[in-house]
Amino acid sequence: MTTFTDEDYWSAIVLYGLNSATYKMALGKTLLDLGEQGGEVVPWEVLARAYFDNYTSRLTGPTVLPQQGNPTRLTIMERIVRRYQQGSLEYSQAIVEVAATSFSDVIPRFQTIVNNKELARNKFYHFRHGKSLTLTDSLLTLVQSTQVTAFRNQLDSRWNLLEGAFQMTRDHSLLSNDTRDIYLVNGYQRTNLTSNIPFLEGYQGNTCFYCGEPIPDGDVHIDHVLPRQVLLHDEIWNLVLSHSYCNTSKSDKLVGEHYISKLIQRNENVMGSNHPWKARIERELGSTSVQRAKKLRWHYENVLKVMGRNYWGGINSYNPATDPFFRKFITVLNNG
Ligand SMILES: [Zn+2]
Repeated sequence: MTTFTDEDYWSAIVLYGLNSATYKMALGKTLLDLGEQGGEVVPWEVLARAYFDNYTSRLTGPTVLPQQGNPTRLTIMERIVRRYQQGSLEYSQAIVEVAATSFSDVIPRFQTIVNNKELARNKFYHFRHGKSLTLTDSLLTLVQSTQVTAFRNQLDSRWNLLEGAFQMTRDHSLLSNDTRDIYLVNGYQRTNLTSNIPFLEGYQGNTCFYCGEPIPDGDVHIDHVLPRQVLLHDEIWNLVLSHSYCNTSKSDKLVGEHYISKLIQRNENVMGSNHPWKARIERELGSTSVQRAKKLRWHYENVLKVMGRNYWGGINSYNPATDPFFRKFITVLNNG
C-alpha cells in the first residue's frame, strides 16, 4: 500500500490538473501566507485580504500577463484589482467584493488531484462558505517544513508558466515556434536550460533521475538522457535532473532500458497535466501514450546504432523498487 506525505499531496494539487485560470496558484500562496501567520481559524475577510494582496502584487509592474486564456475576457480578480488600481474602488470595498464573489469555485475545488475529489478532501483546510476557513494540522506542519521555500517557488514557477501559456494562446504560439527555429538553424548551440529546473523538479519528485536520492540545493544538473551529441536538441522529453556526480558518472554513455521506461513514465506524468510543455511533447513524440513510447524507443535504438553498445552501468545502489519517483501520485494514477 502506497502512502503519501503531506508534501506529496501538496505538490500533486499544485502540479497536476487542468488550469483554465491562475486561481489555484493564488490560493496556494494565500494558504501558505495564512499558515505562516499561525491562526487555525481564518475569518472569510482575512482570507479575502490575503488573496487580494497576492493578486495585487502579481498584477502590478511593467509586465502584467493574462490570468486566463480568452483574450476577450478578464477574470473576476483582474477586474477587481484593475478597479482598485484605477481608484474607482477603495481597498476595503475591494475586500468585500473578493469575499463575496471570488471563492465559490476555487475553495471547493482546490483540494482536487487531477479529477479525483476524494484523495485530498479536507487535507489542508475545511470551510464554511462566507464565514471561515479552518487550516488543518497538515497545512500548519507544511509551512514549518524546510521545504516551504521550495513550495513557494513551485507555485511561482507554475503561475509563471500558466501566464506564459495564456499569453502564447493570444500570440498564436509564436514563442514556441521561435525556440524550435533556433535548433534548426544552430543545431549544436546549447541554449540555457536552467529555466526548466523548477518544472522538472515538480515532475520528478525532487529526486535525482539516476539514483533516486534527494538533490541538495546547488548540486542540480540538467542531463540529456539520450546524449545530446547524437540528438542535437534540448527537447524537454529528453531532459532530467540529476546530481552532478551521477551526471558526470553517466557522461555521454547510453543508459540501460529501465531508465528509458522511467523516462517514458515521467513524460506521461506531464501529459496527465495541463502543463504548457504537454503540447510540445505531443508534437515531438505523438498524441497517444503508445505512439510516444514507441517514438522514444525508436530514438533510443537510433542512438544505439550511432554509438554502439557503450552502456553506462548506472548507479550501483539504484533500485527502481525504492525510487520515490514511482510512489508519486501521478505515476500511481497513470499506471493504477
Ligand atoms: Zn544521483
